[in-house]
Amino acid sequence: MFRFSAVRPSHFLPSLFLLLSGLAAAYVRDLSVFFTSLFNVLPTLVLLLGGAYCAVYRRQRELFLMITVYIAYYLLDTQTDYFRDHGRVREDAAVVFHLVCLLLPMLFALFSAWQERTHLFQDMVARFAVLLAVGSVALGMEQSYPQALLAWLVEIRWPALHGSWMSLIQMSYPVFFLAFVVVVVQYLRQPRPLHAAQITGLIGIFWMLPQTFILPFTLNIMCSQVMLMIAAAVSHEAYQMAFRDELTGLPGRRALNERMQRLGRNYVLAMTDVDHFKKFNDTHGHDVGDQVLRLVASKLSKVTGGGRAYRYGGEEFCLVFAGKTLEECIPHLEAVREMIANYAIQLRNQENRPQDDQQGRQRRGTSGSGSVSVTVSIGVCERQAEHRTPEEVLKAADQALYAAKGAGRNCVMAHGQKERRGALRVA
Ligand code: GH3
Ligand code: MG
Ligand code: MG
Repeated sequence: MFRFSAVRPSHFLPSLFLLLSGLAAAYVRDLSVFFTSLFNVLPTLVLLLGGAYCAVYRRQRELFLMITVYIAYYLLDTQTDYFRDHGRVREDAAVVFHLVCLLLPMLFALFSAWQERTHLFQDMVARFAVLLAVGSVALGMEQSYPQALLAWLVEIRWPALHGSWMSLIQMSYPVFFLAFVVVVVQYLRQPRPLHAAQITGLIGIFWMLPQTFILPFTLNIMCSQVMLMIAAAVSHEAYQMAFRDELTGLPGRRALNERMQRLGRNYVLAMTDVDHFKKFNDTHGHDVGDQVLRLVASKLSKVTGGGRAYRYGGEEFCLVFAGKTLEECIPHLEAVREMIANYAIQLRNQENRPQDDQQGRQRRGTSGSGSVSVTVSIGVCERQAEHRTPEEVLKAADQALYAAKGAGRNCVMAHGQKERRGALRVA
């Protein structure tokens, strides 16, 4: 259920940076006129730009998260403006503030967990209806029974659990706790930048609310930062989609093309291809084939000697060694080839179990009981006078790969190896 192995600190980096810069900015005293004017327009500006960005990419969940944060900002900003201008709070300040402390984490968790499923327009109408329903009930109660509502909000229901540090209404804490559980579980089930940003954003909101009337501009700064976190996560995911291969998690072909433009004068490229993979797929099924590709990718990503692995396409991978010579790379390529060949892969997919005993025996006969193994062939080429551009070097590595297939597979073959066989001592 939880995919701990897919958790990456990089998912949190942009939102953590925004959170920390927000905290730092909120504590700055004596802001210049430039910054006070900036912070006054920042949330609206971020909502307009970030909201338009999300709308263009049809990211409704993110759009509604931003709208929720903005509405909370707007309601509280009216109060803090009054407080700043008059030196005292408006008479409805308490009820509005406490309602926001309750409804903001609730709606934030709801929109965080509510994934787009149905038709986009219906989805938008449903989200809008929820916002409208919650908003109108809250407004109706606040207008009709302000005193009763306030008394209900501030009531301390569990005196034993009440700490003196709690500056929000008591009910707000279990709601925040549940909201944290929702966003953390969602991240662990699907570790991705947006889900990480939702956790960090909720931390930002949790920190912000008690400071609303204490630190000037905390509200403007932190609401802007939380909306920015969500917009940044949309960009981060778009970047990942373009440059990362979804199946293996390795950088993909586009990332390789970009890297190849930035290689210096000395580098080595190695093309890797899984041996007899078509047969493997036919025997064990495409799902097991995918599992094996993930495993091969994970082994290749651990290649030593400064190599970096990319998924070139299908069951082909490219290893880039920047600033290295062929002689330096060969031992590392041999090591990774051997590591893959010696690894016994346990089959986990129950659906792909053999249909009958005979088929099972046949499979076990070829691959060992319950586990399989694969091998890879590697063709490698160094940049040299006759191959000047990365494209030429890659083509030569590909030719060497064909030579490796011809030489019996499960080996490393360098371009033009015949002439240098003695010097390199490769398979
Ligand atoms: P060779 O040793 O000569 O490389 O033999 P091969 O069977 O591996 O030949 P080839 O490289 O032409 O086969 C590629 C096969 O890889 C075809 C396809 O079934 C499989 N394949 C490509 N991409 C994927 C993928 O994403 N998942 C799975 N499961 N299989 C893939
Ligand atoms: Mg191939
Ligand atoms: Mg192959």
